Amino acid sequence: REAKNKMPQYKGLENFKLLDKMGDGAFSNVYKALDLTTNKKVAVKVVRKFELNATQRANILKEVQIMRGLNHPGIVKLISFSESQEHYFLVLELMEGGELFHQIVKLTYFSENLARHVILQVAHGIRYLHEERGVVHRDIKPENLLFSRIPVIPSKNPVQRQYDEEKIDEGEFIPGVGGGEIGRVKIADFGLSKVVWDEQTMTPCGTVGYTAPEIVKDERYSKSVDMWALGCVLYTLLCGFPPFYDESINVLTEKVARGYYTFLSPWWDDISPLAKDLITHLLCVDPSQRYTIDEFLAHPWCNAAPAPPPPPT
Ligand code: ADP
Ligand code: MG
Repeated sequence: REAKNKMPQYKGLENFKLLDKMGDGAFSNVYKALDLTTNKKVAVKVVRKFELNATQRANILKEVQIMRGLNHPGIVKLISFSESQEHYFLVLELMEGGELFHQIVKLTYFSENLARHVILQVAHGIRYLHEERGVVHRDIKPENLLFSRIPVIPSKNPVQRQYDEEKIDEGEFIPGVGGGEIGRVKIADFGLSKVVWDEQTMTPCGTVGYTAPEIVKDERYSKSVDMWALGCVLYTLLCGFPPFYDESINVLTEKVARGYYTFLSPWWDDISPLAKDLITHLLCVDPSQRYTIDEFLAHPWCNAAPAPPPPPT
């Protein structure tokens, strides 16, 4: 990690003071920065143009184009976009709390109540993308799910109130042993996202009457890749390790292709049958059988009242 006083300077980014590095990608660095014109903290994703080929450059512009059309509390906002000769600059809403990934590593796993609170925020973001914008994210994973602020998570089975869109922004308190609060979880990184469904006509994008059925079906099912990923995230939240893993990439690929996973004992012994039932409907190999986002949100596990905290010991 670079020292705070040794932040790089980018030509074309004079209106921002870089404060800290928040993340690295293959072709980009993400910094916490102060917008000197508004005096507000933001995140700036700096992409090095020269390392990208024409397709990759076009993809960044597509990422920007898609993000511009999005406005939802479960989605990281793009504030502005600019470019210099050498870089693209995406100015983003700052997510101070960092990646969901780090929180899973820190905590090992989340209680069902906390997992529900987190996954419902992600799911409402996905519902907005799929049903209102016709966008498929295609890279849902804990590294791309960010906390608005550093979560305070009680170590013992935290309890969360029933999901309430209105209350989350106010830093909803999590009653339970030790208390805590986690703010918002938002979806970031639209680098692989794609518009697949025209919101107006409710038809596949860029197609008219001559499209082959397999293409139409493909577009229909492309949203289901996000639902599979959502299942993987939920599985990981509940037990602390991913559903599919193997040291050998070939074995791992085979496991995923067959949808071979288990609710491994003892980690899954105390997790509710409802949670397992929901995961089963997401990690299902046939995309036509997999839950859609609306089916996910209607599942009883998502609508269960939070369990009371365990008695103090
Ligand atoms: P990549 O395409 O390289 O994965 P991302 O957009 O996912 O780029 O950004 C890389 C990392 O930077 C993220 O995983 C996260 O840790 C951090 N990051 C991205 N956007 C923000 C943001 N708005 N606020 C805080 N951190 C961010
Ligand atoms: Mg990413």
